[in-house]
Amino acid sequence: MRADVLARSISNGQLPALSALRAEGSLHTVTSAFPSVTGPAYAPFIMGRYPGSIGLPGLRWYDRSRKIAGLTGHTRSYVGPEMRFVDRDVDSAAPTIFELAKPSIGALSVITRGLRRADRIGQSPAFIARTALAHFRGNVRGWLAIDREVGEEVAYRLRTSKVKFAFAALTGIDKTSHAAGQDSAIVSDAMRIVDETVARIRSDAERDGRWKKMHLWVGSDHGHSTVRHHEDLAGLLTQWRYTTVAHPWAFNRSADIAVMVSGNAMAHLYLNLEQRARPWWPKLGDQWGEIARNLLARESVDLMILPTSARSCEVHAHKRGMATLTWGEENYSYVPQSGDPLGVGSQENLDSRRAYQVTVESDYPDAIVQIAHLVGAPRSGDIILSAARDWDYRAKYEPIPHVSSHGALHREHMLVPLLLNRPPAHAPRRTVDVMPSALAALGITAPKGLDGRSFL
Ligand SMILES: [Zn+2]
Repeated sequence: MRADVLARSISNGQLPALSALRAEGSLHTVTSAFPSVTGPAYAPFIMGRYPGSIGLPGLRWYDRSRKIAGLTGHTRSYVGPEMRFVDRDVDSAAPTIFELAKPSIGALSVITRGLRRADRIGQSPAFIARTALAHFRGNVRGWLAIDREVGEEVAYRLRTSKVKFAFAALTGIDKTSHAAGQDSAIVSDAMRIVDETVARIRSDAERDGRWKKMHLWVGSDHGHSTVRHHEDLAGLLTQWRYTTVAHPWAFNRSADIAVMVSGNAMAHLYLNLEQRARPWWPKLGDQWGEIARNLLARESVDLMILPTSARSCEVHAHKRGMATLTWGEENYSYVPQSGDPLGVGSQENLDSRRAYQVTVESDYPDAIVQIAHLVGAPRSGDIILSAARDWDYRAKYEPIPHVSSHGALHREHMLVPLLLNRPPAHAPRRTVDVMPSALAALGITAPKGLDGRSFL
């Protein structure tokens, strides 16, 4: 859900329950995480961490360490049955809010560690079979029925059992946006299900005297924007005479390049696949310089990020040149070299708060911090692409042809709404602030090492 679309829909009077929340509390625009895609972008809400840092660099990724069996080409795709591996893939030392705030419930949460089986709504085999059918048959209305059911079940649980923390993902807005665009009538139908769910939870809580103490927050993990062209990235590389490993055919063990697309407006490309340690630029340029130059010249490529170490990278844009980004524990420097691809000027020694401020009004809100955390992730690729507007990176194998996408670094994907039922102490900045704030609301001490901070 894009921040501006939600604000407009509330102002239009389409969403009375959300409108009441806004009137009593506050509606904020915050930044999501890169890649701005469901799954990885849930990590901020559930773990207070950026996705790359806890082991989810994308919806699909290649495993250099070879812990993942060769049968799946040493790759992961959380679209389909491998979604069950998310909990084992995320950093076991980083706690989830479900482990800290008990008892919790989670509905359609991609990360479920710490939830008892009975408290994972939408994980029964029958339910999974239904969602899989809706997905692979491209049944968009089917997703709305699923949202209704999830909303009712969450409201029922909150009404009938003592729950400290509940996380509910309603995915209908995303599915309908991919199929019909975020401004379509069916997306309004999906938004109304969110509104009805909020109305039900609230009226139950008011009747039972729980509302005065309850925090009810509505947010999104990514935005959306129109796609007019699909670059078949795997097909393009095949045309250039490279062999690739790419989903759904991730079995090629002698491939040159792994192409792992998320959202579908971002991609990790992995090179020198036989190597267990990450290779770095500029050394990679000896063998792969030409492919990088050719990719950068594609209309579909907005930003091309080349990791030069676990604490530095180059950011390229075709007609805007290259800048270097370097970072340490809590400082970031972005320095234009042949140009200023992010359009924010030279920025040296910023803390994460300053790095947010200098980018939030730009075309790439919070890009400095987000790129740093993704490049620094051990499971990230060797070329990271953020798609140009109107473009994404998968032309085939989507059950619903996408007319709208997300995953990239630009505003429409990174800016998301956060609606709070009471005003916070200071304005929230990032989705990563949500989890520590929820802990603060519950009086639970936040664990060390979180990427966000409480807005309460
Ligand atoms: Zn999506």
